[in-house]
Amino acid sequence: MTDPRQTPHMQILKVALDVPLDGVFDYRSDVPIMVGQRVVVPFGPRRQVGIVVDTATDSDIAPAKLKFILQHFDNEPVLDSEFFSLLRFCADYYQYPYGQALLSALPARLRQTEPAQARQQFRYWLNPSGLAAGVEAIPARQVIQQRIFSALEAHGRLGETELAELSPGWRKGLAALRDHGWIDEEQVYAGLRSTLHASNVQPELNGEQSHAVQAVLAQRSGFKPWLLHGITGSGKTEVYIRLLQAVLEDNDDQALVLVPEINLTPQLEARFRSRLPQFPLVTLHSNLGESERLQNWRLAQTGAARIVIGTRLSVFTPLPRLKLMIVDEEHDTSYKQQDSMRYHARDVALVRAQRRNIPIVLGSATPALETWHNAQSGRYGLLSMQQRAVSQSQLPQVHCVDVNRVQMQEGLSPQLVKALKTRLERGEQSLLFINRRGYSPVLLCTACQWIAPCMRCSSRLVVHLRQGCLRCHHCGHEQKIVRQCPSCGNPDLHPTGHGTQRLEETLAKLLPEARVLRVDRDSTRRKNALDDMLSAVHAGEVDILVGTQMLAKGHDFPNLTLVGVLDTDSALFSPDFRAAERLFAQLMQVSGRAGRAEKPGTVLIQTTFPEHSLFNALRSQDYAAYATGLLNEREITQFPPYEFLALVKAEANDYMPVQRFLQFAGDVAREMGGEVLVYDPVRPQMERLKGMERGQLLFQAPSRQALQAVLRQLTPQLRAHPLSSKIRWAVDVDPQEF
Ligand code: ADP
Ligand code: ZN
Ligand code: ZN
Repeated sequence: MTDPRQTPHMQILKVALDVPLDGVFDYRSDVPIMVGQRVVVPFGPRRQVGIVVDTATDSDIAPAKLKFILQHFDNEPVLDSEFFSLLRFCADYYQYPYGQALLSALPARLRQTEPAQARQQFRYWLNPSGLAAGVEAIPARQVIQQRIFSALEAHGRLGETELAELSPGWRKGLAALRDHGWIDEEQVYAGLRSTLHASNVQPELNGEQSHAVQAVLAQRSGFKPWLLHGITGSGKTEVYIRLLQAVLEDNDDQALVLVPEINLTPQLEARFRSRLPQFPLVTLHSNLGESERLQNWRLAQTGAARIVIGTRLSVFTPLPRLKLMIVDEEHDTSYKQQDSMRYHARDVALVRAQRRNIPIVLGSATPALETWHNAQSGRYGLLSMQQRAVSQSQLPQVHCVDVNRVQMQEGLSPQLVKALKTRLERGEQSLLFINRRGYSPVLLCTACQWIAPCMRCSSRLVVHLRQGCLRCHHCGHEQKIVRQCPSCGNPDLHPTGHGTQRLEETLAKLLPEARVLRVDRDSTRRKNALDDMLSAVHAGEVDILVGTQMLAKGHDFPNLTLVGVLDTDSALFSPDFRAAERLFAQLMQVSGRAGRAEKPGTVLIQTTFPEHSLFNALRSQDYAAYATGLLNEREITQFPPYEFLALVKAEANDYMPVQRFLQFAGDVAREMGGEVLVYDPVRPQMERLKGMERGQLLFQAPSRQALQAVLRQLTPQLRAHPLSSKIRWAVDVDPQEF
């Protein structure tokens, strides 16, 4: 018998698996396997897919006890070391098991125990002898050959899909060109599309824009974070386009553009495709089918895609030649993942840029206070664009309507109704913006003040009149509208509050000739529904848009000249310390929708507190002044960005074990001493959610290092605690929701 350690092919593989344990697992293989390959291994009673993150010749486990891998996938590109080190960093920073972090950053197809073959296609281009021959060398009769030749000349590399668009007879034509020895080809993953109809209109940059572009390009060869602070319509996207043009021009370099929401990708994609036709572009977001997602991810990983536009998760996409990152709407809360690994994609992007030593541009009209603080202190470069790019277009006029002083009609003030009428007469469009929180109708007993509650959550049920039901917007619980107050027997129950559906009815009564379109989560549930609605708005088939947050972002409606903001006061006094910052950002965004083209816009805000500093800042559209005020408050109260926070969140059917677990966490952390302040366990605002009793424990620290030092010791002890497997818990570093 030979010692297996002496066999030349004996290899120990360190394999990361999707299991809630930190660390990697040792397996044996008698064929050579590379780091970054996928393998299938036995784990307990099951087969699991794993990623080889390292190889060794030795293991702590006796060789005879080591299991062999069951399978490996040879024909797939392997993951690179940047991918591993970035996820290692995130797993540590966000206190999440490494294997799970790694596997959840992969497209679903790569988490299955099967080979994941993405479809491939050929792409063709003219080689030097083809280019030397020129299109004149093709006989005049050969129209298809000429057409293919010219298209290749104009666009560089074209795939089968685009050639098929040129002519159904393309295969024969191409074969003829190939017979001349003029064509080279490559095989790439399917999904690359060249733009055959590009726009060559390149607007002249204004002073602020060119300054921004030049500043970034001047320091493009090292790590440099930039805040591009530009009001809506100042031409930030145009700046991104120029940066991409310049950075990608010479080599095979790549760029990653993060956007907060899937809804915003199609617009940006279309604009980039038409302006940057020379750079193959793919998108990555959760609306893609699994195979398309894998395909696009592979295109990025192999370097064939030069631009990747993606949402949160795409920050982990392997990009071997990444040279520039852009985070659009960097303040947006959807960059923060709210379950599994609770990472913040903007922060991960910054870490990645630093490790790659490349520039990163964070764009926003209303930056996160953390970002603004970094720009003020000089850690980030600040690029400011305070003019609208289209010179005729002006900033909107912002006015407050004091709702205490006027007779409201179903939630609408006379001023707002009059303004709506005027727009209607002029054939212009209006947007009524609803802050979803505090705006949903509830079922109220006017005799005893009972309000229909959700039995599973600490929340109230929302009345959906049309469906005749009450629904919980947190857990989805649904029941029939009750006819009689269960508390006092009163048979006269009223829906109160407004809600989008009620508002639609009110508008129909007050302005019967207006064409009203409601855009909210309910009305856009169907696939493509939002796209259809947006085209209806652009086609002028809508007079009044009624909508929530969804409409505030990014959409450009040239004929929209009035924005009415219906109810924001609940957010002014929310216990969440970020509520004011968010409301301000939201109102800036939504007022940015008015007057985008040559027509000036008006914003009417209905409120009980017209003199609130937030509205004053909004009237002067002065983000900087407002941010300075908020930062002062944060400094006094020692909240981020001056101090750093983490939460341990826990929930169970019963509060007792939650409390005990959190108490334990607090005790352990306090024993460590140091500068970290450990609070007592508390119930969050939403005490009960989906039938689970919730609790949380807050840590506050003067530095990230101090906080990390505590968490690094604490998390393993929490994982080892007997209650750990009986309750649901998570560590949330830099939490956004409390
Ligand atoms: P932002 O992304 O800051 O909201 P955009 O880049 O979308 O702004 O620009 C707003 C509008 O101004 C767009 O219609 C865009 O085409 C136009 N635009 C941008 N830059 C210029 C420029 N330098 N000259 C003329 N029009 C411009
Ligand atoms: Zn009652
Ligand atoms: Zn509920």
